[in-house]
Amino acid sequence: MEKQYDVIVLGGGLAALTLSIQLKRSNPDISIVILEKREGDAPMAAHKVGESTVELASHYFRNVLGMKDYLETHELPKHGLRAFFKSNNKNDITTRVELGPRRKLVVPSHQIDRGTFENYMIKHVQELGVNFLSGAIVKDFNLTKEGNTVTYKLNGEEHTISGKWVVDAASRASLIKRKLGFQKELDHNINSVWWRVKSVVDVDTWTDNEVWKSKLEPKLRYLSTVHFMDKGYWIWVIPLGTGCTSIGIVADQEIHPLTSFNTYEKAMEWLKVNEPQVYSKLEPETPNVLDFMQLKHFAHNTTRMYSADERWGLTGEAGAFLDPLYSPGSDFIALANTWLSDLILRDVKGEDISVRAKVYEQAFLRQVDNWIPIYKNKYQLLENSQIMVIKIFWDWAVYWSIHSLMFTNNGFVNLRLLKRLFGTENGLGDKLATLNMRMQNMFISWKPYQTEVFENRYIDPFDIRFMRAFQLGLEKVHETDQLLEAQLHENLGILEQMATCIFRLVSSQAKDTPVDMEINPYDFDLENVNQNIAPEGAVTPAQNVVDDVSLLWFYEVKEMA
Ligand SMILES: Cc1cc2nc3c(=O)[nH]c(=O)nc-3n(C[C@H](O)[C@H](O)[C@H](O)COP(=O)(O)OP(=O)(O)OC[C@H]3O[C@@H](n4cnc5c(N)ncnc54)[C@H](O)[C@@H]3O)c2cc1C
Repeated sequence: MEKQYDVIVLGGGLAALTLSIQLKRSNPDISIVILEKREGDAPMAAHKVGESTVELASHYFRNVLGMKDYLETHELPKHGLRAFFKSNNKNDITTRVELGPRRKLVVPSHQIDRGTFENYMIKHVQELGVNFLSGAIVKDFNLTKEGNTVTYKLNGEEHTISGKWVVDAASRASLIKRKLGFQKELDHNINSVWWRVKSVVDVDTWTDNEVWKSKLEPKLRYLSTVHFMDKGYWIWVIPLGTGCTSIGIVADQEIHPLTSFNTYEKAMEWLKVNEPQVYSKLEPETPNVLDFMQLKHFAHNTTRMYSADERWGLTGEAGAFLDPLYSPGSDFIALANTWLSDLILRDVKGEDISVRAKVYEQAFLRQVDNWIPIYKNKYQLLENSQIMVIKIFWDWAVYWSIHSLMFTNNGFVNLRLLKRLFGTENGLGDKLATLNMRMQNMFISWKPYQTEVFENRYIDPFDIRFMRAFQLGLEKVHETDQLLEAQLHENLGILEQMATCIFRLVSSQAKDTPVDMEINPYDFDLENVNQNIAPEGAVTPAQNVVDDVSLLWFYEVKEMA
């Protein structure tokens, strides 16, 4: 038996490196070895996907892990998500409904070249004293209450080491999940292909229409994560530092089978049919293509995350992965690492972590469950700009006002708060799950009634005052649990009002009901609207919320009854 470590990490990608930094920042004496099968440096640009970050992960990278300076110096700032929806003339980008921020954002996020980022973090963890072994292939491991061992091969030789903790960060190899048998299927059959080009792709240059261009300051469209959407698919265009661009197609297998775009040549033909302008701008870049990758049915889940008895944990794609539509991959890494590092650090200090491990595992699995309805069966809606604008705003509102705020205020490792919010029946967690489910179901029910193709519109999330307040609120530090809890409840109240306003508008369009109909947002069902019965628990939205939500409405708002 060779060396003994506090933590052995299987795999050395984003999840492994960030976890190690997080552990070392709290306890410089903790001994960590990372076993990574790749030999040598990661390539620039054409390495892995996961290039676009959102607020929660950016907070984690910048503030929790202290990488603000690196990100600001070496990676690109991101100017939000920018969606272009279906129009009757997809050869002209200016005709498409466009959703995205116009002005520079206050809350930062980044476009990350995964190769340069990982290479930087490898050097950083080594400086922190982590033993990073490249070319080390994990062969086997034994996890028992008495102690854990891992066997790996390096330079043709097998080594066995022991560790107090073993962390699976080996992504889809899912080493622990497979060996202990707790994989969970996810019925969300979406595929993706992606490639990188060694050139700048800037959608702002795709037209000479100066009015369209002047809606934003120059370069802000370029810095956005750009999505082109239509029935059953979305395409990403993400700028990377060093002048490269990442392009991807993500599509529902039922609507666009993977075999129709699973080589570069086929992907180009597919674009020519589905996205002619994107094709015409990308085809000349063919000599600059750096790679081409594909992933079939990428969604997967798990029934376990952490064990206090046998001292193991999962992080990154070794656990669960749902869908990249809103770029949440790094957020899930931030969450999983925050729980796991808290368990490891407490255990190493000698604290009993058995309760925490159970609570954290439940909290993680519940987060995943609550996110599934956001994506599942929703690719059929991507062609519909009116439904998608409202859905995107709703999904962001929930994400900023509750999940991200909890994270930026360390709420997810606060046992008392977790119990009060998510461990009590009809607490904030239950309510949010019900409200979200009602909204997600409504989007599907609305589809047959909302068939119009809209064009020539610009929607800015930050024109909506409560959306702006939710996003800016992430930077606010709430000094006590009570203050944080009060803010979360206030935010839930605004979400209830937002949902009520949306249900009223949708019902008025689909079912011709009055726009001021009484609605209990926890009990709304578009298929069973009864305007004659005033429901218990009806919510009366404030006028400013009514006004704000009406900015997302493409139709004329009907007169009050
Ligand atoms: C199509 C698509 C688009 C995405 N877009 C985004 C996005 O825009 N933003 C975002 O935040 N996330 C995105 N994600 C998610 C993101 O890719 C993942 O969250 C992230 O890459 C996972 O990091 P990881 O550390 O778990 O895995 P990785 O970074 O893949 O690291 C795993 C490491 O384990 C090593 N390994 C595997 N087996 C062994 C072994 N036996 N021995 C030793 N080492 C081993 C591998 O070499 C690898 O380096 C996307 C995912 C998909 C599928």
